[in-house]
Amino acid sequence: MKFPHLFIIVLFACSSISYAIPTPPNTGTKPNNPPLSVNPSASSGQVTPSEEADPDEGFAFENDSLITIPADELYNFTWTSRHLNPYRISIDSLPDSVEIDCCDFVFPVPNNRINSNFGIRRGRFHYGTDIALTIGDTVRATFSGIVRIVDYERRGYGHYVVIRHNNSLESVSAHLSKTFVTTNQIVEAGDPIGLGGNSGRSTGPHLHYELRFLGNAFNTTKLIDYPNKTTFDDIYLLTKKHTFNHNAELKQLAAVRYHIVKSGDTLSRIANRYRTTVGNLCRLNKIKATSILRIGQRIRYR
Ligand SMILES: [Zn+2]
Repeated sequence: MKFPHLFIIVLFACSSISYAIPTPPNTGTKPNNPPLSVNPSASSGQVTPSEEADPDEGFAFENDSLITIPADELYNFTWTSRHLNPYRISIDSLPDSVEIDCCDFVFPVPNNRINSNFGIRRGRFHYGTDIALTIGDTVRATFSGIVRIVDYERRGYGHYVVIRHNNSLESVSAHLSKTFVTTNQIVEAGDPIGLGGNSGRSTGPHLHYELRFLGNAFNTTKLIDYPNKTTFDDIYLLTKKHTFNHNAELKQLAAVRYHIVKSGDTLSRIANRYRTTVGNLCRLNKIKATSILRIGQRIRYR
């Protein structure tokens, strides 16, 4: 996928002074590019609802006022409250490196104990870091930005908030018991966005916290120093190679395929159909060759 035209913004860390220098188009994916900087105080592109709004996307700002969408150009002017990842940019298509300003970081909850880490969990990919909390604990915006999604998913995130941050990251805060913010609301780092809870598919009170760049989640512990409730540095150098070193695992997981058992199926029939062996099916599914198959059972064959 072609990368949108990017502006390199020379960033004086933590200062409000910045200069926007346009670069030639589509340089973002070439190797050995200098890191792209995104200035939290001067995100590129101003959008008026009348000019850019897609009425189907429910794009509406209060008072029709001019609002600067953080990292708008980087995100190819896509701003919707309907989809968590409308960008569909693969990890392979990300820029090689991007400087992320972490100066205004605020730890989201009172507790800093991690219950469950980012990565493969029970055969599925867990895109967040689960942080322990007590129901009713205040959950705060970790960086400044604009709220993109406030929604509820009964079988998933429960009550959750997605914020596009000025530093170009997006965060997901899920399983909340209550939300305090609305779509398109500007938030400062540290602002309360909701209360901790156990809503959605959750086995106990915790904050499911994700950081994403161009829709792709990465391990928050690469950037956040949990024991000290801060970030490791004022600038985080996000790189395709290190930040997204779980890419191979994701691809492996995506390649997994299942057969749904029907009447008359046997392991050898299934093995023949998918050109594999009974031994391989047994290994992938942790079953024995003599195991009885149930109709509707999922048998992994790849
Ligand atoms: Zn989680």
